[in-house]
Amino acid sequence: MAMDEIVDGLSEVSCDVLVIGGGTAGPMAALKAKLRNPKANVVLLEKANVKRSGAISMGMDGLNNAVIPGYATPEQYTKEITIANDGIVDQKAVYKYAQNCYKIIEELDSFGIRFLKNENGDYAVKKVHHIGTYVLPMPNGETVKKALYRQLRRARILISNRYMATRLLTASDGRVAGAISVNTRTAEILVIKAKAVILCMGAAGRLGLPTSGYMFGTYENAANSGDGYAMAYHAGAALANLECFQINPLIKDYNGPACAYVAGPFGAFTANNEGSRFIECDYWSGQMMLEFYNELQSGKGPVFLQLKHLHPNTIEEIESTLHKVERPTRGLFQKGRGTDYRTESIEMHISEIGFCSGHSASGVFVDDFARTTVPGLYAAGDMASVPHNYMLGAFTNGAVAGTDAMEFADNHDFADFDAADVAKERDRVMAPTKREDGIPPNQIEYKARRLVNDYLQPPKVTRKFELGQRRLAEVRDDMEQHMIARNSHELLRALETQSIVDCADMAAHASLYREESRWGLYHLRTDFPEKDNENWFCHTLLSKRDGKMTSEKREVQPYVVPIADDEKDLYDKQRIRATA
Ligand SMILES: Cc1cc2nc3c(=O)[nH]c(=O)nc-3n(C[C@H](O)[C@H](O)[C@H](O)COP(=O)(O)OP(=O)(O)OC[C@H]3O[C@@H](n4cnc5c(N)ncnc54)[C@H](O)[C@@H]3O)c2cc1C
Repeated sequence: MAMDEIVDGLSEVSCDVLVIGGGTAGPMAALKAKLRNPKANVVLLEKANVKRSGAISMGMDGLNNAVIPGYATPEQYTKEITIANDGIVDQKAVYKYAQNCYKIIEELDSFGIRFLKNENGDYAVKKVHHIGTYVLPMPNGETVKKALYRQLRRARILISNRYMATRLLTASDGRVAGAISVNTRTAEILVIKAKAVILCMGAAGRLGLPTSGYMFGTYENAANSGDGYAMAYHAGAALANLECFQINPLIKDYNGPACAYVAGPFGAFTANNEGSRFIECDYWSGQMMLEFYNELQSGKGPVFLQLKHLHPNTIEEIESTLHKVERPTRGLFQKGRGTDYRTESIEMHISEIGFCSGHSASGVFVDDFARTTVPGLYAAGDMASVPHNYMLGAFTNGAVAGTDAMEFADNHDFADFDAADVAKERDRVMAPTKREDGIPPNQIEYKARRLVNDYLQPPKVTRKFELGQRRLAEVRDDMEQHMIARNSHELLRALETQSIVDCADMAAHASLYREESRWGLYHLRTDFPEKDNENWFCHTLLSKRDGKMTSEKREVQPYVVPIADDEKDLYDKQRIRATA
């Protein structure tokens, strides 16, 4: 059989807890579920290979949000994230993360993942955020995946690589019953019955098109095509604040972080074309991105990361992290371009849009136990709604999800699903393979993502969004009637394209619903330019009701950590004021 030839096959397996996505949150969720009940079966399903998948596949250069005793308190952190997220936060989940994450750091340390320590052996935390100190460098961060994988093998987690989940199965009472997946090399379908399911499929990172034009040159891991968001939506789960887009300040054409988090503590800063600072703080927030955007609009761009004023030894130290861990291609890119940080600043730009709670707040709605609104269904990491979560949030909330999901599985039997649902999904999945001729998935994907850039990239204009919706509906028609897949690989791309179009529709719908501006550039609506706390100090929840996309408001839960009036808008004051 030739590789990627399509095989017609269907099999069914069952397990107690099914974890989908083996990037960051997923391995931790699987591990904690298994530790909770070692006799139970835990399956970790991954589209790629758990050894090298997800946002941390090549390692990571630091923890962005470590709450370490002596440096920060859970109360302080909860306050910071609440303010950074314009107040729209259910603090319980953030507070729980802040209380638990130190234990997880110690656990990761015991797995062999080393964190920066000072001469006393204490963690050496750096200040990047506006108020508190939370960034913990990881000088040997490239080992993170290997260390995790060892733990999974030791715990006897059943790992299914190269299976792409496509839809969740639910019972007539709405409970989750399992998932349907497709082998990415053979197209064989695997149905997995499960008592509880944890979604850890990362951000929706292939939504906008990078300005470089490379379809896979996204900021996010390009395999994160928003399948998790689409699956949660089709299963009836609520998704929160999808209009709070992820937009990042990145290296122009390379599209990776310029990395003020690494270089900032050494004295590097974000500068305009005049070499002047214009933002107080390099921490990624919507307000910071708005100042970045304003600087470009004002004609003072391009914007740069400036390090050339630093001592050569310091630059060398920065390079040893930035060119080795997280995105090892960065050094090659700069070399190819002939950029030497000693003499030249690094040109930055504004990224394509995506959904990601890890960096902003758009995700499947979860409570402080990582429970979604569908019984038995959990979500953790970049695709769950806990804001500004990052890698340590994925680990910590993955752990919370794993433990709670196993408790759920211990107390429930398998839910029944309708066999007709499997047949229907099989037809949907295989449809592009049944056509003789048509449009290949990469063309449909390119068209949809170009429309995302043309119409949905902020500033958000109502008229543009409405036109965007119409154009996307036309793409959907082409996709549903004319898309072809000639081998299993193309079928994977065809399925991803369907997730991308679903996410584009959700991005447009959610953005039109919130009639105000909030979160800086993330949700800047020109027709409603002001923040409107009276009407919109709330979450928005998007879900599928009777087959239709709907949005509703949801109250922000009472704060656990109070925020004083004069602290509420600290993140709005990002711009450096001219001093006489
Ligand atoms: C370039 C970059 C730099 C970053 N730098 C930092 C940093 O320095 N510090 C920090 O704290 N955080 C950083 N982050 C954020 C952090 O990496 C993420 O928040 C975290 O890794 C997210 O974990 P996750 O488990 O949600 O997603 P991921 O780790 O991305 O895992 C998602 C997994 O799901 C799989 N998957 C997707 N769809 C399917 C499907 N249909 N079926 C099966 N599997 C599927 C994917 O293949 C992937 O393995 C960075 C992120 C990026 C992209």
